Amino acid sequence: MKALLSVSDKTGVLELARELNALGVQLISTGGTAKLLADNGLPVTEVAEVTGFPEMLDGRVKTLHPMVHGGLLARRDFPEHMAALQQHGIGTIDILVVNLYPFESTVAKPGCTLADAIENIDIGGPAMVRSAAKNWKDVAVLTDADQYAEVVAELKAGAISSQTRFKLSVAAFNRISQYDAAISNYLSSVDLSAGVPDDEAQPQRLAFPGQSNANYVKLQDLRYGENPHQSAAYYRDANPLPGSLVTGVQLQGKELSYNNIADADAAWECVKSFDVPACVIVKHANPCGVAVGQDSHEAYSKAFQTDPTSAFGGIIAFNRPLDGKAAQEVVKQFVEVLIATDFTPEALAIFKPKANVRLMKIELPAGGAEQGRNAVDIKRIGSGLLLQSADNHDMTLADLKVVTVKQPTPQQMEDLLFAWKVAKYVKSNAIVFCKDGMTMGVGAGQMSRLDSARIASIKAEHAKLTLQGTAVASDAFFPFRDGLDVVVDAGASCVIQPGGSMRDQEVIDAANERGVAMVFTGVRHFRH
Ligand code: 5GP
Repeated sequence: MKALLSVSDKTGVLELARELNALGVQLISTGGTAKLLADNGLPVTEVAEVTGFPEMLDGRVKTLHPMVHGGLLARRDFPEHMAALQQHGIGTIDILVVNLYPFESTVAKPGCTLADAIENIDIGGPAMVRSAAKNWKDVAVLTDADQYAEVVAELKAGAISSQTRFKLSVAAFNRISQYDAAISNYLSSVDLSAGVPDDEAQPQRLAFPGQSNANYVKLQDLRYGENPHQSAAYYRDANPLPGSLVTGVQLQGKELSYNNIADADAAWECVKSFDVPACVIVKHANPCGVAVGQDSHEAYSKAFQTDPTSAFGGIIAFNRPLDGKAAQEVVKQFVEVLIATDFTPEALAIFKPKANVRLMKIELPAGGAEQGRNAVDIKRIGSGLLLQSADNHDMTLADLKVVTVKQPTPQQMEDLLFAWKVAKYVKSNAIVFCKDGMTMGVGAGQMSRLDSARIASIKAEHAKLTLQGTAVASDAFFPFRDGLDVVVDAGASCVIQPGGSMRDQEVIDAANERGVAMVFTGVRHFRH
């Protein structure tokens, strides 16, 4: 058995080499690593001896040779492969131990020059790692000192298992992809506005990479982030979903800001979840008015009534083309961003004098809004990420369970479903009062559900709306009856909520006592 060892970080490699040597494994190695092993009395063959070429070009070319890659890539179960090795005098290599030139730590050092960075891009190392990892059935590839002990233990017990070889291969490709991403991120963040930096200069770095890496494509730098002292940039997925915000086209208006984009996304994601004509007005990531109607004009008029104060300077989205009639109404108020699936020439003419208003046209996905939904949600936390499958649950009538003596009327049921749909897009704790296809009071983002309920009714009061006979949705269960009492006191005649509290019975009894209908969804829609 033969092992090739070529490591920049020499931690643990001597101990590993001793173990391999004791197990009768022949050692091949590159310059620095070979010297360390030989100085410590281990028998080692220099790779230059194997290739018949000296290491050259300051180490840029050491192992890039068929004598090495043939030995790593040949399939031991293919007679033609083995015959080719024999014909060319190439020996198989069964274990590869490589860690790469320290690119990441080099560019992290203050004062790193472009030349330092470039010299620390490992070429032969990743090439060997890829060869070995591809041929995992026959070769074990070690790319991290933490893997040494396990492999030695398996060798001592007989052989490296195929499961371990596969795991090592996956780890190897992960390492290569991180390494390449680090190179790509560094190089694409070099500021080229004054030309390519001198080799010995420390390059100016852009706040955000100018080029995309593999997964995201940069759309634009933003003037600032959530606040003016924050820098920001806007990227889209390399393959965006149809009907997502990033596929939209801005038809007029000032450049979108960071907050515009975040709020536009919230408005668009909510409005596109409706099949009938709908309008959503968003302020600070929360819907402050949502309504459906015969057409965009009606939907807008209703949505606006929910909270005219908050709607000032809002982001307004429609899931239909905007026509002149609706535009005439919308133009009366101060709007930051207006989104629709299209704009009629009259609508465009109405907004033309309002040159600052950002008009965005986004087409709905041909196969329905479900096609344009992200599968995964990502949240950044301190030095980490949280990933989850997106909250793409759609409620159907069959999922609902009426838990009260009183049954909701068909009209109430319609309002309940509407309220539930909206509550999904409101930050928790969410309480949403609705009637006749419009929001009547939205309580969002409070730490207490009771306060959300109170705020929703205060907002209705400000908008001079009555909550009498409304349907109310709560994004999560009522832990006690007090929340239910607050919404019924405010005027709700029917309630939709997930259920599932320890005290569900207390809440159901309260609903019966107060003579309201209540349905359980069995599903919660927290949104933080
Ligand atoms: P050593 O300290 O043994 O001289 O060098 C070890 C480093 O060289 C390892 O990080 C390995 O990835 C890298 N390396 C091995 N072969 C090549 C090659 O052909 N070209 C380049 N640029 N690096 C190589």
